[in-house]
Amino acid sequence: MAGIAQRKIYDAVVVGSGITGGYAAMELTKKGLETLVLEAGRPISPERDYVEHVPPWQMRFRGLGDRGALARDQPIQRTCYACDEWSSKFFVNDRENPYTFDKDKPFAWIRGRQVGGRSIMWGRHTYRWSDLDFEANAKDGLGVDWPLRYADAAPWYDYVEDFVGISGREEGLPQLPDGKFLPPMELNCAELAVREALSRSFGGERVLTIGRVAMLTREHRGRAPCHYCGPCERGCATRSYFSSLNATLPEAQSTGRLTLRPHSVVESLLYDAEANRVEGIRVIDAQTHDTFEVHGRVVFLCASALESARILLNSKSSRFPDGLANSSGELGRNLMDHVMGWGAEGKIPGSEDRVPWGRRNPGIYVPRFRNVKAKHPGLLRGYGFQGSGFRERWEHGLDTPGFGADFKHSLRNWGPWRLSFYGFGECLPNRDNYVTLDPEVRDRWGIPSLRIHMKWGENERALLKDMAVTAAEMLEAAHARDIELTQEDNPPGLTIHEMGTARMGRDPKTSVLNSFNQAHDVPNLFVTDGSAMTSSSCVNPSITYMMLTARACDHAVREMDMGRI
Ligand SMILES: Cc1cc2nc3c(=O)[nH]c(=O)nc-3n(C[C@H](O)[C@H](O)[C@H](O)COP(=O)(O)OP(=O)(O)OC[C@H]3O[C@@H](n4cnc5c(N)ncnc54)[C@H](O)[C@@H]3O)c2cc1C
Ligand code: SF4
Repeated sequence: MAGIAQRKIYDAVVVGSGITGGYAAMELTKKGLETLVLEAGRPISPERDYVEHVPPWQMRFRGLGDRGALARDQPIQRTCYACDEWSSKFFVNDRENPYTFDKDKPFAWIRGRQVGGRSIMWGRHTYRWSDLDFEANAKDGLGVDWPLRYADAAPWYDYVEDFVGISGREEGLPQLPDGKFLPPMELNCAELAVREALSRSFGGERVLTIGRVAMLTREHRGRAPCHYCGPCERGCATRSYFSSLNATLPEAQSTGRLTLRPHSVVESLLYDAEANRVEGIRVIDAQTHDTFEVHGRVVFLCASALESARILLNSKSSRFPDGLANSSGELGRNLMDHVMGWGAEGKIPGSEDRVPWGRRNPGIYVPRFRNVKAKHPGLLRGYGFQGSGFRERWEHGLDTPGFGADFKHSLRNWGPWRLSFYGFGECLPNRDNYVTLDPEVRDRWGIPSLRIHMKWGENERALLKDMAVTAAEMLEAAHARDIELTQEDNPPGLTIHEMGTARMGRDPKTSVLNSFNQAHDVPNLFVTDGSAMTSSSCVNPSITYMMLTARACDHAVREMDMGRI
């Protein structure tokens, strides 16, 4: 068992080193806890593995990817826009990591299995929740009420944003609270024109702002500002965007209290019924397939919403025959993901003498406006839009297809400005969207795979339709020409915001976790990834996972200090 002390009882064991595991590792070590991080995947070396500056002509398949290998090993992962020839190495091998679903309920489970998890490839959009979100379930009578409100979350958003470094612009909107922002990235001229048109036509109800992103626009905590090279999902040698590798894990390492063990696949948690606590963690070495156990006073599950649910479902005992901490029967249920892919695009007249400068990766954001002031008769909750303004001939940026001298000449003709709106909508909590352990299928390490049961409901479909209507309205307001609707048929999972499988709540009979992400049933067990989410809002969720993780770490350490864990 390389790298860890077999008999040692660590103060804390964290499962997973992605966005939430990295955050937990940093918080716990900084608070003085000897912390072991178990990561199923391989180590990543930024010097060797980051490839954002490698041009297509240095890639074996010139950036088009090894289509045979992708079809064989990553048929699900390749459906994600970021799984290309450069970044496919950061996505799992689907053959080694199978899961199942009914034919009529496809689910695209997009995963990363390495130190850093999906924090390497994530899109970095970061938006705070408001009480519109925290109160939504209580108001609509759906799911269960969140056991916290924005007033509980706000100081922790401040705390996390202060470390992460978020660039963005203050807009003073109640539905999308402003945060502690670094200077915003600039809107281009098409985006500015549409921002002004929205402000003229919608009385402040619909606002176009620059995306709020975990990317630095100036030096921050020893990390350099972004130099606008473009393809962030391939890594970032200057550590200008936030990831576990770029930020939290080095910070945890610097305390001298972190032990990080890659190639450590957690199979299950071992429960001591007499002491009512997790007493051990069963781990399979990913390379040798040897099994071993480790021990910690407190356990943080941060393996991602579906993997953490899988570990808990696979941790059976006579007290918890249906999965650890599952006296409520809610473990694995209420799976959510954002519904995405309807919107519109059009040509924005004017400014043809101006061209974009630099490769700004993030685009724009239009915060939710449905059901904010007035109640919509046909829809619950709402959606926001991402998108961008760009010159038509350069829509695909560096990946614009073409070859040879004619191609080079054609690139001098930039084409008109265009602007796209692409909607992301809230998914309602629903017990009938759930996961179980598949009775037959196992992964490469012999661990039961998940069977995922999820489909979009009526409200999600209604949100999609509305997105196309309102996106076209906004383009019309900006006098856009040739407006085309975008109407994609995306399966759940593909938005990569899966969450809800061990929800928080006040009542142990109807929820798995309390307001501090601590299992109602087992006090030394915390689950701080997307599993904990009680509803989904419509904004990108990871900053909220980080906020909840930091808050949970603070609570856990205080409970330990008081001898209650
Ligand atoms: C292309 C892309 C774009 C995205 N864009 C955004 C965005 O703009 N904004 C946003 O908020 N979110 C975005 N996301 C989602 C975001 O990446 C996730 O919400 C976030 O990474 C979840 O953090 P996590 O810690 O729960 O899981 P992960 O980051 O996935 O980390 C989980 C870790 O646990 C490890 N693990 C899993 N099972 C085990 C086990 N049994 N034993 C040990 N270790 C295990 C994994 O190997 C992995 O390293 C995007 C994701 C992708 C892929
Ligand atoms: S665009 Fe900025 S954040 Fe992205 S990889 Fe390049 S330098 Fe890093």
